[in-house]
Amino acid sequence: MTRQPFVVESALARIAEAVRPFPPAALFALADEGFSSPFEQLMACILSIRTLDEVSIEAARRLFAHARTPAELLAHSATMIDQWITPCTFHTAKAWQLREIAHVVETEHGGVLPCDFAALTALKGVGPKCANLVLGIACGQPAISVDIHVHRITNRWGYVQTATPEQSMTALERKLPQPLWITINRLLVPFGKHICTGRAPRCGACPVLDMCAQVGVTTTRRE
Ligand code: SF4
Repeated sequence: MTRQPFVVESALARIAEAVRPFPPAALFALADEGFSSPFEQLMACILSIRTLDEVSIEAARRLFAHARTPAELLAHSATMIDQWITPCTFHTAKAWQLREIAHVVETEHGGVLPCDFAALTALKGVGPKCANLVLGIACGQPAISVDIHVHRITNRWGYVQTATPEQSMTALERKLPQPLWITINRLLVPFGKHICTGRAPRCGACPVLDMCAQVGVTTTRRE
């Protein structure tokens, strides 16, 4: 097969069709359910760190049944929050972290989490990935959130050549058209979980095989 030039708009349009049967990534699913404020999205992102979407999304729903704002969260003890968010990875530490963040938002930002990258990343344990997801999903700002799926797949395409998700974020900010900045995370998370998987990607069933450089791919599956 002759490889076609890689056109990111075409690739993402095809991937949008391919991932239609799969559940959306946790934060997008929660936003669709109405949990779309910056504070809710930040709490959900913290719960999702090193935790399966299936686990973190249920924990987020349990948490939001009791607390959706910083003031509501501060009305509960860390022990109680810990019970709601178990079995997320590091659930006890995350319970204390969420309370600490709520306290900062109450005392320094008037109870409203600002849509501001510097303010978000100044909060305890909040990195660029969560900050950009909050900005993109809750604030409607152009922001690229690069998790392990986005990093791995864009490198396999040959679209970027980077060693870390942080480098990928910088490279994508230079290269990816801005209207696709939020879309790329929304699409590549389910695509990375179900088709372009970490080990043995399903290249035989991939809608962008004809334009993918398959960089670093040594073992593939047909279906
Ligand atoms: S062809 Fe293979 S490596 Fe390339 S995007 Fe598709 S599944 Fe991933």
